[in-house]
Amino acid sequence: MMRIDILTLFPELFKPFISTSIMGRAIDNNLVNINTHNIRDFAKNKHRQVDDYPYGGGAGMVMAVQPLYDALDHVIGLHDLKPTIIYLSPQGRVLDQAMVADYSRHTNIILLCGHYEGIDQRVIDKYVDQEISIGDYVLTGGELAAMVFVDSVTRLIPGVLGSSDSILEESHTNHLLEYPHYTRPSNYKGDKVPEVLLSGNHKEIDRWRRTQSLKNTLIKRPDMLSKAELSDEDQMLLKELKEHK
Ligand code: SAM
Repeated sequence: MMRIDILTLFPELFKPFISTSIMGRAIDNNLVNINTHNIRDFAKNKHRQVDDYPYGGGAGMVMAVQPLYDALDHVIGLHDLKPTIIYLSPQGRVLDQAMVADYSRHTNIILLCGHYEGIDQRVIDKYVDQEISIGDYVLTGGELAAMVFVDSVTRLIPGVLGSSDSILEESHTNHLLEYPHYTRPSNYKGDKVPEVLLSGNHKEIDRWRRTQSLKNTLIKRPDMLSKAELSDEDQMLLKELKEHK
């Protein structure tokens, strides 16, 4: 079972997230074990203060070494195997689906959420294996980024989702976006589902879906196509789509 420990100043933010829907079921079914720890509980000073002014001056506060060193030492001790320690940070490598797939095969992960101006650099130098960003923008804290990480990684753990086929076809798995989805009714106030999906002809449906997937990628994310593995038939379909664009 994968074990994830999250170090945060706001553990209460994670409660609804880890108890709802697919995440809640994955935990109930012992596919993932998620634990949150309040960094403030490790502060030794009188007011349990976790931040301090930056050396050298400047705006904002910095999360101090003592509570973080102690919190990390404690949480590392809870793991039976050496955990991968990840600091959620706008300076990290931007998370993508290939990285998510890779992390879903890890068994022991610690996520460190920063706040304010971030954390004392010595914590990163001493403990952190990887810095991960969820995009090129700045959040007030690492908690939302940690949830994004946990959500995207957990759903790839075998057994968490009903069908593993849905993962294979999904957007970003093969550097292509997925085809459009429809469900009942087939005609709602005159808005109809494409005929081919009602035909029962699976070869035709597969071909239609592949075409739509290529089309979606060509229109919405043409930058992805250079990385996608494309068959000769895909290349032909793409050529046709480009001509009719
Ligand atoms: N001063 C830092 C900088 O410029 O690199 C930004 C600190 S940010 C305001 C506070 C915390 O939010 C960070 O310590 C980090 O944990 C989290 N954070 C902010 N943006 C993030 C992003 N794009 N991805 C992951 N975590 C982020």
